[in-house]
Amino acid sequence: MKKAPIIWTTTLLFSISFLVAAIAVPWYAVAVGFGWFEIIATILALGYCGMSITAGYHRLWAHKTYDAHPFLQWAFAIGGAFALQNSALHWSSDHRDHHRHVDDNEKDPYSARRGFWYSHIGWMLRDYQGTTYNDYTNVRDLQKNRIVAWQHKHYLALTIATNVGIPLLLGWLSGNMLGMILSVGVLRLVLSHHFTFFINSLAHIWGKQPYTDKNSARDNGVLAFLTYGEGYHNYHHIFEYDYRNGIKWWQFDPTKWLIKSASYIGLTRNLRIVPEERVAMAKAKMQLLRAQQKAQLLPNAEQLLQLLEREYELLLARMQDYYQLKKQFVLQKKQALIEQYQTADFKQRYREFKYHLQQQHQHWQRLTAAFH
Ligand SMILES: [Zn+2]
Ligand SMILES: [Zn+2]
Repeated sequence: MKKAPIIWTTTLLFSISFLVAAIAVPWYAVAVGFGWFEIIATILALGYCGMSITAGYHRLWAHKTYDAHPFLQWAFAIGGAFALQNSALHWSSDHRDHHRHVDDNEKDPYSARRGFWYSHIGWMLRDYQGTTYNDYTNVRDLQKNRIVAWQHKHYLALTIATNVGIPLLLGWLSGNMLGMILSVGVLRLVLSHHFTFFINSLAHIWGKQPYTDKNSARDNGVLAFLTYGEGYHNYHHIFEYDYRNGIKWWQFDPTKWLIKSASYIGLTRNLRIVPEERVAMAKAKMQLLRAQQKAQLLPNAEQLLQLLEREYELLLARMQDYYQLKKQFVLQKKQALIEQYQTADFKQRYREFKYHLQQQHQHWQRLTAAFH
């Protein structure tokens, strides 16, 4: 079969930026040395690009796991262009296809079954999508979002303005133009690219599958560290509408922390989470499947399988009891809180009314006394 034609702009951009980051950046670090200004600016710019993709492109627009204030959306739209990963509209369209047809070599744009290279970067180097490249039927909702539509329309201008403008401006401020172009300009871009690409490649190859084995996605704490929390990809593929990827408090998910903190100041709202019960059930199901596979190989398989089945049913029943009661408990607590508030409110009003009455009483006494 004839290979799809190479997309030269992307191929050259990825290759040149990678070579500069791999050769010129270390050379400069040794020969001249980067200052604190460049190092801090690179880390901040890297975080801004990364989080615009994870919190903005991915969890806000592609999956709609929460709502965001326009101010935050503008910030993500500009940061996403700075990250140079195509427009939010295009990115989300590809990503929704990825979830819908995960591991399907024809329909998943970065199917992990086609190997590490293809899912990491190869899928962008050749025109594999052909005529379907501009098919945005799966993101009609986003086409109606004026910020997403604006970013899509002015994407090229925005990428140039941010990728050229920001390093030049910082270089002018610090007085070290070359150092800033190499660090914030090139190194930041290359790291930002590959950290995101790891989610499509490594996060489908390396790690554990605690929630589902129906697709290749994995949970991986090391990758979570490089990808602002997106490494918990097994959880994400089964519960894609959850604004969190790492659901445990100790799991490194700064994207989740950003979305949650922003909710306290009204920049985000309607944060969606999957009920605890469904997560626990998915996990138990996977444990059952794994244990069944092992038990089948043992001499007393029949007996063991029966035992597993029985205990699993019991576990489900216990879960149901517990979570049902927990729901009621939460509801009761809420009710008690309302009552408490009402009592406090009542006491306050009682004191106010009493005071008003006393005042009026005095007033009345004085008034009637005048008629004696
Ligand atoms: Zn996703
Ligand atoms: Zn994936």
